[in-house]
Amino acid sequence: MNLYSEFPKYRGELEYRCQVCGNKYPADELLYTCPNCKGVFLLEDKRFEELKKYPPETWQEIFDKRAATKLYPLRGIFRFYELMAPILDPEDIVYLGEGHTPIVFASKGFQKYVGVKFAYKNEGQNPSASFKDRGMACAFSYLKYLVRKKGYKDILAICASTGDTSASSAMYGAYVGDLIKSVVLLPHGKVTPQQLAQPLGSGATVLELPGVFDDCMKVVEYLADNYNVALLNSKNSWRILGQESYSYEIAQWFDWDVAGKVIFVPIGNAGNIAAIISGFIKLYELGIIKFLPKIIGVQSSHADPVFKFYSEDKKTRKYKPVPVRPSVAQAAMIGNPVSFPRVKKLVDKYESIGGVFYVVQVEEQQIIEGMLVVNKHGHIACTQGGECFAGMLKAKELDLIEKDEVCILDATAHLLKFLKFQQMYFDNAFPPEYEITPKDEYKNFPKLILDTSVKGSLSPEDFYKKAVENIVRELGLKEKNR
Ligand SMILES: *Cc1c(COP(=O)(O)O)cnc(C)c1O
Ligand SMILES: [Zn+2]
Repeated sequence: MNLYSEFPKYRGELEYRCQVCGNKYPADELLYTCPNCKGVFLLEDKRFEELKKYPPETWQEIFDKRAATKLYPLRGIFRFYELMAPILDPEDIVYLGEGHTPIVFASKGFQKYVGVKFAYKNEGQNPSASFKDRGMACAFSYLKYLVRKKGYKDILAICASTGDTSASSAMYGAYVGDLIKSVVLLPHGKVTPQQLAQPLGSGATVLELPGVFDDCMKVVEYLADNYNVALLNSKNSWRILGQESYSYEIAQWFDWDVAGKVIFVPIGNAGNIAAIISGFIKLYELGIIKFLPKIIGVQSSHADPVFKFYSEDKKTRKYKPVPVRPSVAQAAMIGNPVSFPRVKKLVDKYESIGGVFYVVQVEEQQIIEGMLVVNKHGHIACTQGGECFAGMLKAKELDLIEKDEVCILDATAHLLKFLKFQQMYFDNAFPPEYEITPKDEYKNFPKLILDTSVKGSLSPEDFYKKAVENIVRELGLKEKNR
């Protein structure tokens, strides 16, 4: 077998499988929801069993060799081609540098201070600065495949967004060009300035709706049901497939041994956690990993339907959407996650093969201070990354983590996208609904070392002299011994 020196020969047979009624549909048509019951899909490869013909070591070797490939279509998430969308040809695959994000361990001192061994996986180092690029690379590659196979013209791709989905879809749309036009629908005033600037800069059509994300979602779903548009929200199962690569990368980083690892994931629309669970299941089924990691979802008390579901008794629990309240983990501020049926199914399966799954709930104060404290120790976590840290502390408090376990926290986006909340904290500017009371120890301000009025009134020489004097005083500097 010579799978790694060239593009893989293997082609799977993908089909949509409804997570609610179980119906199956071939993957050569773009479907979002089940025509029978409107349930959500996961994509499955009918030939998956055939992959078991090769021993796990062969897969490990193939994936490891591909990690160093120069072959563009296999450089990013598609180095796990056989586990992803193995119907695509190389010319379909869009690679903008997504994936292979680093796992960065907290410094020794910080880990000791916190009392847990932990690392961040920096999803903010993806090209549009969030993990959404993994799913979008897969969805756009599939759209390109469809356009090529079926001769479609002028596909209009649309998504509702809490900010990062639109940034990502607009970027991939801009790259692919005329083939696929990108339209995004945002809740007015509910995405950060950076997240709004991203699709605008990519040249996408940006529409806004007064309301919250759940309102935008209803509108795009109606459009997708009744008009000729491609929906790029995580209801789209191609996105889930692409996001499975997060799990493959964690396993690969630890040389395919994830025993004793605890994976923390913030839950919003629940697409990401569904993808991550599904990814580990696939690896386990092929024997590529021998043990399943523990997976812990994290939700804010301001948007916690999944936490509520899993905290009820197994026999009687019922899923109910919740109204959301303002949250600094704004990208996860979702009261009715579309992927909930996927999570439910996948968690049942995960537990049936020996996996452990929990959801913990954290407060807004802990989320924002989580972000501030980790970034003060050299990380680049967004507020949802802060939410993971808060979730880890909560899990420790609840005795859900054992002494030797290593926690992997998902910094789902780059901190630069969420500076607004850092500034609101520094400025004591949170409206009461956030329930956040800033503490001085986490605040930081620039210091002006010369009054602005002084600038014009001093000679250049005195100006620099005065500046130096003030800095010396401010920092308590000592003169060099000569
Ligand atoms: C989308 C997003 C989330 C939530 O992910 P879901 O798949 O909706 O659960 C969390 N953090 C960031 C930064 C996001 O962009
Ligand atoms: Zn169905």
